[in-house]
Amino acid sequence: MNKPEAESTYQVWYCNRCDKACKIQPPTIKPGCRCANPVPGVRPTLVTQMAQMKPRPVQALTEEEARLRSLARKDQRVTVTYEAEVSKAWLRADANGAKRIQFIVTTPDGRRHVVDPSLPGLHVEAAPEGERPVVVVTVIGGLL
Ligand SMILES: [Zn+2]
Repeated sequence: MNKPEAESTYQVWYCNRCDKACKIQPPTIKPGCRCANPVPGVRPTLVTQMAQMKPRPVQALTEEEARLRSLARKDQRVTVTYEAEVSKAWLRADANGAKRIQFIVTTPDGRRHVVDPSLPGLHVEAAPEGERPVVVVTVIGGLL
């Protein structure tokens, strides 16, 4: 992969005493000459410097993120599970007049979710014993 590189051209006068740069135009680089009385050459030398682009910081992928990304394929079957408390439940008549239970549950972050157990692949069960009654909602299906 070719990274774009910034090119800068300088005029550099080298010191006749130490052979190091004693004057640079534009003065964006520090001259290397440390002589008390530098003796700059008569003619400047054109120096082109390729400024290397800083590589982007590579973010380490956590094991969990890598695992999730490996699942992010169309048609991949996944099971999505979250634990929530039942906040509300009611009966709703379906198209045939049969009454079906529906829930509103609250996840630990305080967000509420409507849970319709009649949705295909959706499964609701009691969570393992805890301080308060909770349900586990499991959604099985493809992502993306
Ligand atoms: Zn010098």
